[in-house]
Amino acid sequence: MARPTLARVFPQNIRHNLGLVRDKATAARVMACVKADAYGHGLVTVSQALHDVADGFAVACIEEALILRKHDITKPILMLEGPQSADEIAEASSQNLTLCINEWHQLEWLEQAGLNSPLSCWLKVDTGMHRLGFAPDVTAEAIERLLPQIKHSEFVVCTHFSSADLPEDNGISKQLDVFDRSVGEQGYAQSTANSAAIFRAPESHRDWVRPGYMLYGGSPIAESTADDLGLKPAMEFSAQVISIREVPTGERVGYCGRWQAQRPSRIATIAAGYGDGYPRHAPDGTPVFIDGASLPLAGRVSMDMITVDVTEHPGVKIGSKAVLWGDVPAVDALADHADSIGYELLAGMPKRVPRIVEP
Ligand SMILES: *Cc1c(COP(=O)(O)O)cnc(C)c1O
Repeated sequence: MARPTLARVFPQNIRHNLGLVRDKATAARVMACVKADAYGHGLVTVSQALHDVADGFAVACIEEALILRKHDITKPILMLEGPQSADEIAEASSQNLTLCINEWHQLEWLEQAGLNSPLSCWLKVDTGMHRLGFAPDVTAEAIERLLPQIKHSEFVVCTHFSSADLPEDNGISKQLDVFDRSVGEQGYAQSTANSAAIFRAPESHRDWVRPGYMLYGGSPIAESTADDLGLKPAMEFSAQVISIREVPTGERVGYCGRWQAQRPSRIATIAAGYGDGYPRHAPDGTPVFIDGASLPLAGRVSMDMITVDVTEHPGVKIGSKAVLWGDVPAVDALADHADSIGYELLAGMPKRVPRIVEP
């Protein structure tokens, strides 16, 4: 028997969510972000599921890109952080990868490589995130140096929004303005929109959109749920009840006795904890869905287990299924309780939890 703790992955829902990207950004090509093991869903699983519907795949680093090529992903693969050493340039070229050039030292490596074969590149402009990219006033110079290196391969200028998830003061129009003034009128292909901007800012769609989180069915918009947006969750993380006990009034449950019974209580122990990616900071009351009801977490999250107050649901028994995130609670709702974000919960889910890919 296997430990009954698993993550079911629904490729059909990821395809549905990509369809929503197409509905929103009808003229743009879609660069599906599959970095960090496709936000925990499985890099190869997700990329294969999207191969015929995405126009390309974005990863963080060459290690992720090479896994995709090894698994016969032939679409463009963009390395968002660009090369991390000079020798990655030749390898990227031989594997037909696309480099995002963010920094002068990356441009120098490219010049030193003196490639004869084509190499597609994106070039990032730092329009306000201040993490990666060329400052707007030197972008023209960087492009002038880059273009001779890549011959006539595809070239895209891009930027990234810092706060597109926020309903107000998200800075999208300000960042787009900086972008347009530095490169916007020069006829290069462009890419600016992440998931949040796909929903919020049609003027940001340009030639390529770069959805990540929304593909996995999380809401990228602070004020809307995924369900409101028509997104379907791509993962259900579940475990089973492995113990039930009666706890008298006044007794405490779990580490440091954080939760105390205010009445004679029935506590169910579930076989998933922070060692499985459940957020350790989840407070008492965080919803766990068992036997058709949202029931409150009672006591600190342990490494391998959590405890839930099931006093009001006598149907809960050993072997009952507990959904930690999925349809209910949505990963965003759980993250809200735990002072986290759904991105972190998904990307942080360890290998220990088997991913079961549903047809
Ligand atoms: C991760 C990433 C995205 C996708 O962001 P989401 O919010 O998940 O849609 C887009 N662009 C860049 C540069 C990224 O690093």
